Amino acid sequence: MTPLRVKVGNASLTVALRLRAVPDVVVVGAGVMGASVALELQRSGRTVVVVDKGDAVGCGSTSSSSAVVRFNFSTLAAVTAAWESAHRWEAWADHLGLADDASGGLGPLARFVRCPMLFLEPPGFPRADATILLSTVGVPYEVLDEGELRRQFPALDTGRYHPPRRPDDPRFGLGPFGRLDAVLVPDGGFIDDPRLAAANLMDAARRHGTEVRLGTEVVAVETGSGRTSGVRLADGTTLDAPVVVNAAGPWSARLNVLAGVVDDGAVPTRPLRQEVHVVPAPAGFGLDDGGAMVADLDLGYYTRPAPGGTLLVGGVEPDCDPLEWVDDPDDVAPTPTVPCFEAQVWRLARRLPDLAVPHRPIGLAGVYDVTPDWMPIYDRTSLDGFYVAIGTSGNQFKNAPLVGQILCDLVDACEAGHDHDADPVTTNCHRIGRPLDLGAFSRLRSMTATTGTVMG
Ligand SMILES: Cc1cc2nc3c(=O)[nH]c(=O)nc-3n(C[C@H](O)[C@H](O)[C@H](O)COP(=O)(O)OP(=O)(O)OC[C@H]3O[C@@H](n4cnc5c(N)ncnc54)[C@H](O)[C@@H]3O)c2cc1C
Repeated sequence: MTPLRVKVGNASLTVALRLRAVPDVVVVGAGVMGASVALELQRSGRTVVVVDKGDAVGCGSTSSSSAVVRFNFSTLAAVTAAWESAHRWEAWADHLGLADDASGGLGPLARFVRCPMLFLEPPGFPRADATILLSTVGVPYEVLDEGELRRQFPALDTGRYHPPRRPDDPRFGLGPFGRLDAVLVPDGGFIDDPRLAAANLMDAARRHGTEVRLGTEVVAVETGSGRTSGVRLADGTTLDAPVVVNAAGPWSARLNVLAGVVDDGAVPTRPLRQEVHVVPAPAGFGLDDGGAMVADLDLGYYTRPAPGGTLLVGGVEPDCDPLEWVDDPDDVAPTPTVPCFEAQVWRLARRLPDLAVPHRPIGLAGVYDVTPDWMPIYDRTSLDGFYVAIGTSGNQFKNAPLVGQILCDLVDACEAGHDHDADPVTTNCHRIGRPLDLGAFSRLRSMTATTGTVMG
């Protein structure tokens, strides 16, 4: 609000004029990524406007997230980012800038719920390659032989059933063909309410001055003099800004087309439909009852306990399950289907023989945007001033607290003229005391060797 003195006859009046200044940054998308990016850019002293076509913060793919926080990834950068982020989730009030654990007027806060993570590998999995990354970063883990796995998790059937199969495959019920051992990571967990986590970040950003415009769709990216100059909105108005961040989740590829940054050799992204189902937790495998989060690459599903005595069950893209690529994320109905429910829940029922399988699917369908190596893209683009936090591949909710800082460091460096493509920026993971080379998330990277699934 800018005060202005005007003369009317002999009287002098002070009137307040609402002058809309050009913001330093427009963030497209008010999911957990856009909220984190807005908070850090605003904290850095910039003025930020967030626009989202939806009617609430976090109502895109963030709201359907299983919000699992785990550390088993295929690259040092991914393990580092996840371990740093877990420390930020654990100190959530502090991360948001609140003095103590109180909400400081922000309302309820999302909670990190500790829950151990069990990794059940397929045959031939390069365990040593994975555990050396955990050791390097300092993530505690334990290898459980079959006896120890059964002792610590008696509700689990420890048989080996690989490869994963569809329930209509006559070989679905065969086995076991051996016994399993496992890698246990005790410090995993999940966020109890992912949409609330996004709202917490956005409320913290608003406190610093971020403006959030909901029900506001971006239909064009404005360019001029070889760089972005803002965005055009569905109502025909433009929102000028020298920096635009694409945090549009499953819709991000479409925004990249609008910005003209798809034919520059960058790693592509594509929206993928996913289902998560809800089943009652059997005795001995609930949240406070001996349960664990399980990534079961032997049978082909993941599960995590949830408050209220339930388990969430999701997919890990085994070869036998078709991938449901979608052209338009808005066309995806949020309801689960019988074939996917049976595939995921019946596999879990093999691992948890006391599971009572519901008569009909309960759960949700969501969409996430996937890169060919299932690693995200946090980067600048070939259009100066246009940045991306995209390709989150079903595994990046956990890293949201760090992604804001990553984008802020990139914007700082690139807008100051640094050539990030030639000399990648490093970000400081201050809670775990490690540097993170952001070249790992470059749009120009050669495909990283990963599991080629949501496990990353
Ligand atoms: C079923 C499922 C399970 C998952 N489980 C996990 C998990 O266990 N652990 C984990 O770490 N990650 C998980 N993920 C991934 C994680 O949830 C996502 O990576 C993360 O939430 C993406 O956040 P985002 O802000 O990028 O996208 P979104 O939350 O989708 O936000 C993007 C926003 O952009 C807006 N938008 C799009 N286009 C426009 C436009 N043109 N104009 C204006 N606004 C626009 C949309 O309305 C939307 O609100 C899961 C995802 C799904 C779908």
